[in-house]
Amino acid sequence: MPPKVIPIFEHAAAATSGCGTKGGSGKSSCGSGAGQGDLSPEIWEKVKNHPCYSEQAHHHFARMHVAVAPACNIQCNYCNRKYDCSNESRPGVVSEKLTPELAAKKVLAVASEVPQLTVVGIAGPGDALANPEKTFKTFELIQKGAPDIRLCLSTNGLMLPDHVQTIQDFNVDHVTITINMIDPEVGEAIYPWIYYNRKRWKGRDAAKILAERQMEGLEMLTSKGILVKVNSVMIPGVNDQHLVEVNRMVKSKGAFLHNIMPLISEAEHGTYYGLNGQRGPSPQELKKLQDDCEGEMNLMRHCRQCRADAVGLLGEDRSAEFTSEKVAEMEVNYDAEARQAYQAFVEKERQDQQAALQGELAGLGSSEVQALVAVATKGSGRINEHFGHASEFQIYELSAQGAKFVGHRRVDHYCEGGYGEEEVLETVISAINDCAAVFVAKIGRCPKGDLEKAGIEPVDAYAHEYIEQSLIAWFKEYLARGTYAERGEGRLRQGAYIAA
Ligand code: SF4
Repeated sequence: MPPKVIPIFEHAAAATSGCGTKGGSGKSSCGSGAGQGDLSPEIWEKVKNHPCYSEQAHHHFARMHVAVAPACNIQCNYCNRKYDCSNESRPGVVSEKLTPELAAKKVLAVASEVPQLTVVGIAGPGDALANPEKTFKTFELIQKGAPDIRLCLSTNGLMLPDHVQTIQDFNVDHVTITINMIDPEVGEAIYPWIYYNRKRWKGRDAAKILAERQMEGLEMLTSKGILVKVNSVMIPGVNDQHLVEVNRMVKSKGAFLHNIMPLISEAEHGTYYGLNGQRGPSPQELKKLQDDCEGEMNLMRHCRQCRADAVGLLGEDRSAEFTSEKVAEMEVNYDAEARQAYQAFVEKERQDQQAALQGELAGLGSSEVQALVAVATKGSGRINEHFGHASEFQIYELSAQGAKFVGHRRVDHYCEGGYGEEEVLETVISAINDCAAVFVAKIGRCPKGDLEKAGIEPVDAYAHEYIEQSLIAWFKEYLARGTYAERGEGRLRQGAYIAA
């Protein structure tokens, strides 16, 4: 029996029959990708319901960040802390900073309302380990109140070696380190200063200390079996080529996942890069670098560069529903059983999706044709969002290997108050201009016509069905047609999710 709060399953399940012989999309991105694969049972247990460590889990499970760590000990040229820290956040203010007590209360309130919540992280707005008392006090309180929730922290790594034992003692089994360079010459163009051992260090010396401390912390964590995700900000002309070396190094030191994110550098955020015209990468540049780094190492491609107080599934932000004021008035009913029931329900759903996908993969053939397609979804691994209501499109690469998630594109809602905005439609089309088709639950006649004119096929025939199975079914038809138009370039919109 599914629990009472499951807002995203509205329609009957797709067919689940059949079992093919293809293994899916080859080396999967995002940790566990489609399933356990070659992961040990112990690691699988840690990642299977973690929306950031498993691409598949991100369709079903939610995370929240609690903003208890305001101070930072380094300055990054992509960050303006009047807004937020770029370790793992958007360049926008956190709505409110929390005390550990308020944070723990908020976690219980969210967990009572959102059965999908499996993970709580501390990702700023400064650095979690530049605020160790607040960070660990928060973990202690959360553990007492909600022991089934996994704990994560995100850090620039400068103070990491000093806290690895405490991290382990608090059962924090996922740590993110932001590592943008291993060569201090590259590092001095990214970090103007660090504050370490009661002294401000600048230039190459600062970058050298930071890189050494990051590597030391990474090794210490992995030797204890703690999963480490490395975040890297891709800064064209500064570290874009260098990140291939970073990838090799962190892989050799045991990092589990590498998350290469595009630089966000809009001038209004007031960052050094933003004010000096440093551009971010295009989707094509980002994908190429991610492809170059994807070998033995798991690549995360579904990161949404969330706010430091984000709440919800990765493609949404419900933080505005859980302000301190609102939490104070909420009746908190933490129902561990309902949460477990939800997770069991999702597990079954995931198995059904995999079985359906395997069935569809049979007979796909060995064509060398590849196509990108866009999908409108509001979660649960289904095509269940209206074209006009989508705030992002998920991008999949289709090939003889299957359907592989390769990224997402943020857009404004095309449909506001029942009417479509022509100007917005143009920006949506440019965001997915590299795609051959867009899969939606529903779409109006006008946008349909404009998409067709732009060479993007609107597909609503698979409304509410499983994403990957549907994409493969369509791809078989596409291959059978035998005509493949060249696509242009898509556009990456800067910024990150903000509460509605
Ligand atoms: S910033 Fe990326 S890694 Fe962190 S919670 Fe958001 S999606 Fe996950």
